[in-house]
Amino acid sequence: MPAFVRFWGTRGSIPTPGHQTRRYGGNTSCVELRMDGALLVCDGGTGLRELGLDLRRRMPEGVEAHLFFSHMHWDHIQGFPFFVPAYSPESRLHVYETTPGDDRVRRLLHGQMKSEYFPVSFSELGATIEARYFSNRELWVRGVRVRCFEQPHPGRSFAFSFEHEGKKIVYATDSELDSCVCDPLLREREPEALRRLPADLVRFIEGADLLIADGQYTDAEYPSKRGWGHASAATVVDLAVQAGVRQCAIFHHDPMHSDDVVEEKIQVCRARARTHGSELVVFGAREGVELKL
Ligand SMILES: [Zn+2]
Ligand SMILES: [Zn+2]
Repeated sequence: MPAFVRFWGTRGSIPTPGHQTRRYGGNTSCVELRMDGALLVCDGGTGLRELGLDLRRRMPEGVEAHLFFSHMHWDHIQGFPFFVPAYSPESRLHVYETTPGDDRVRRLLHGQMKSEYFPVSFSELGATIEARYFSNRELWVRGVRVRCFEQPHPGRSFAFSFEHEGKKIVYATDSELDSCVCDPLLREREPEALRRLPADLVRFIEGADLLIADGQYTDAEYPSKRGWGHASAATVVDLAVQAGVRQCAIFHHDPMHSDDVVEEKIQVCRARARTHGSELVVFGAREGVELKL
């Protein structure tokens, strides 16, 4: 059974509507996966609003969705109060918590719907909303094996790996890869040399058919954004090469980047993969695009 991936929001940090961002889109993080008949949603940025409208058309009898939040920064949760299926008594939403006993996802989804921020409270949502927990960083949704991995990011963020019938998709946004490069001094001397990443991270991503990863910055931009929790796209390419990934979607585009700047960044990524002698396919995640794997 093929897996499907659709990008509903690919922008980082803040929505950026306007003609400069029309091709890659201005909505913040939201990716839909369909594997083994299950609807899996990664993050609830403003892209989640349009996914909700589409689901209402596709599944008028009620939606069952599995929601995975990488973390709770605004650009990953702001679409949730506008997710139409959450208001329907016919819907069942499973919300995943990465740490047993810690209900931070549910708590903060509640929090952003306090009356100071939003007119409708979480408790008024009509859908059945259930929390589920990872145990030992792993769980199953139908036949899909889901694992999570903690990433370097202020406030903690998690990557998710989804595997079914030999297909593997990894969603890894909001991760400052450059802060955990094994040999930072080599990078200073030879920016083109392969940047080695920690073995446990490489293993987590190993062999993915598709890696969707935070590549917000260019190498030139990264030094002035150190500590903000995001990666240079070139470092993402190096991770994908080390992990033997087939296709890599550069994701979480910087709000200051126009479509043309994103395209330049992708060209640099492709050249870098070739420099490493890799067949890796690199592209910029684009709102509205659907892939079949
Ligand atoms: Zn973000
Ligand atoms: Zn973040």
